[in-house]
Amino acid sequence: MEIFDTHAHYDDSAFDSDRDELLSTMLPNAGVCGIVTAGTNTNSSKQNAALAAKYGYVYFAAGIHPEDVESAKDGDLSIISDIIKNNKKAVAVGEIGLDYHYDIDKETQKRFFEKQLSLARALDLPVIIHDRDAHADTLEIIKKYKPRGTLHCFSGSAESAKELVSLGFYIGFTGSVTFKNNKKAAKVIEAVPPERILVETDCPYMAPEPFRGRRSDSSMIERTLTFIAQIKGVSPDEMSHITAQNARRLFNIKEWTA
Ligand SMILES: [Zn+2]
Repeated sequence: MEIFDTHAHYDDSAFDSDRDELLSTMLPNAGVCGIVTAGTNTNSSKQNAALAAKYGYVYFAAGIHPEDVESAKDGDLSIISDIIKNNKKAVAVGEIGLDYHYDIDKETQKRFFEKQLSLARALDLPVIIHDRDAHADTLEIIKKYKPRGTLHCFSGSAESAKELVSLGFYIGFTGSVTFKNNKKAAKVIEAVPPERILVETDCPYMAPEPFRGRRSDSSMIERTLTFIAQIKGVSPDEMSHITAQNARRLFNIKEWTA
């Protein structure tokens, strides 16, 4: 297994008791060869930068999450920019996007999303996009800015997955594809070519079956990979190699140490 977890939140307090144990031994032993741990505001981006500095196989993204925009200031964007410029292991601007599930001012969300897409372009980096219940607006803004990137924890239709692929996007799948009530996951996976599939945990959330509801970590991706591999008609091992290569291509990772 060559597990590359393209979307994690190892700064989360759910990992306070055993973060170092997990990242230094358990995950490399479980075949995890790479992780992108994503920031959600300036503080969390700094914490993830510190984790990437400490562990060879850990990379990070810095950004302001749509759920964090109301407490963010405009000056935060230059802090995000500095964090990225000062850290060689910054591989993306993220996690950014739109979340209409919660009652967060939509105009503020769009303003931060668009400013961070501009920042990614200026820094020549890909983006990690969060889209919850905001498919139409997210797609419209993606078409306007034409970033490189991934739509993480993809929850849209097979048609919109195809459209994103045609725009050059990668599609990120979490453990939620294995949930028994997730009827459309198989159709979406069928619609995405193998070379555009990324796997991710979104840990500590979205643990795959049979761990659903528990704290997730990157080693659990094996379940997600097995599910995707079955639909694609390849072995889980092969799927892990394909998705790890995809991650290195998108995030421009040429070397790593486990
Ligand atoms: Zn996330």
